[in-house]
Amino acid sequence: MPVDKHFDVLVLGGGAGGVAAAVRAAQLGGHVAVVEPRYLGGFCVNRGCIPFGYTLAATRILGDLLFGKDLGIHYSGRALDSATHARKRAELISFLRQGIATLLKKHNIELIPGRGRLGEPGKVDVRGEVFSGSKIILATGAGRFKPETAGIDAKNVSSSDILLTIQEQPGSCLLLGDNPKIIEIAQILQRLGSHVWVATEEKALLHDESKAIRTRITKALRKNGINVLTRSRVLSSDRSSKGLQCILKVKDREERITVDRVIRLQRDAGLAELGLEAAGLKGDKDVVEVNERMETGVDGIYAIGDLTTPEDRRYSHLASAGGIVAAENAMGLETCIDHRTVSRVAFTQPQVACVGLTEPEARKRGYDVITGTAPLTLNPFGMLTAQSEGIVEVVADKQKGEIVGIHILGETAGEMAAQAVLTIQLEATLEDLNKTTFPHPTLSESLAEAARDCLGRPIYLP
Ligand SMILES: Cc1cc2nc3c(=O)[nH]c(=O)nc-3n(C[C@H](O)[C@H](O)[C@H](O)COP(=O)(O)OP(=O)(O)OC[C@H]3O[C@@H](n4cnc5c(N)ncnc54)[C@H](O)[C@@H]3O)c2cc1C
Repeated sequence: MPVDKHFDVLVLGGGAGGVAAAVRAAQLGGHVAVVEPRYLGGFCVNRGCIPFGYTLAATRILGDLLFGKDLGIHYSGRALDSATHARKRAELISFLRQGIATLLKKHNIELIPGRGRLGEPGKVDVRGEVFSGSKIILATGAGRFKPETAGIDAKNVSSSDILLTIQEQPGSCLLLGDNPKIIEIAQILQRLGSHVWVATEEKALLHDESKAIRTRITKALRKNGINVLTRSRVLSSDRSSKGLQCILKVKDREERITVDRVIRLQRDAGLAELGLEAAGLKGDKDVVEVNERMETGVDGIYAIGDLTTPEDRRYSHLASAGGIVAAENAMGLETCIDHRTVSRVAFTQPQVACVGLTEPEARKRGYDVITGTAPLTLNPFGMLTAQSEGIVEVVADKQKGEIVGIHILGETAGEMAAQAVLTIQLEATLEDLNKTTFPHPTLSESLAEAARDCLGRPIYLP
């Protein structure tokens, strides 16, 4: 097939991963193109982090107002003007898309509109035109919703997208799952006045996280008014004039609830449509497998972001970090992704941020593990802001003192994750954290105190 245009690096997908990859490859002198069928910015800008982050910022204010009552702040009414909110959110999304287009232009990156499909080695078909790339980076994300859910007809299950389009706030909602995004959405809906259930087959929300985090976030959200049903699953459901009547098995009993909507996050990476087999890749899996250099196993083809990650581990920062690694390797450098420092964050109130290994994971990897905790009820800023469930937990190697995990539940955990990332990336020890002078009063002070707890000499713990 004749080739219409050749590039050093051809990136499929203009989302978080693809844009970072394209810019980095261009910085390294590559002639680069991005193929994108929809909107620049991908899921993050258009349907994920940004729209939901915007609404989370609004509902956080509603949560703060509730706390304000305890502090003696009186107000009446707490309604969200949804038309203004939706307009402002759309303006922000459009501003970001435009910003990305400008960024690509600045780096002389060509934007090819359309859906790319791999062809013979090194070639990509886009709407009948054939482009070739010395290197190809697959960054097509996981956009398509897969609603298959036991006990519920697929037509009665919606994805998070529904919340960006509906005009009316649902009166009641059942959310299925326990991952960070599900609990963020649960809190948005609850703060806006919906009656919310979260049902998970797991024994707690965020089931992969440390016991301290998963039990406390579950308790915190229950205290906030969200009905969290653990060890539960939908047995059957029936649509009636009142809504969707669901029968759930919750531990060993049955619970009946009627809701307006059921929401689930299960996206498909859509491998079947990428033409992977033609390029020598396996297309029969849920995700594309890669090594730490983001190589797929087929020479010259890299893959990054949601396309390579299961649902519970899909993050924008992981996609862009992978994009930079793929681009550098594609351009002849030697780079690996550092999975130790990929933070797992939920922007709930309180926030959750976990970096590195939990205690059981560290043991499994052969560390002689020591852990220390600092509850935020004993932290001055924690007391000021009523962080009743908050905690900082440090996991370290007893012999060397190297910190291998930091888990935080508290008001500013998302920002504190940056300290945790650097601590682990720079292989800091318990003594390093102990010696760090954190500003007072901040929740960060508890990082040093949790490290001192590991060392057996906390200053402020009873
Ligand atoms: C409700 C929700 C909230 C979220 N909030 C956060 C958050 O706060 N923080 C966070 O880190 N992550 C968050 N995420 C996850 C985050 O959005 C994703 O991890 C991130 O967007 C992945 O980036 P990506 O580049 O891999 O894929 P995407 O951003 O999905 O980009 C892929 C792009 O590829 C394009 N494409 C698809 N097929 C083709 C093709 N054949 N050829 C060319 N292009 C193609 C798509 O149109 C899309 O633009 C959230 C997700 C959800 C569901």
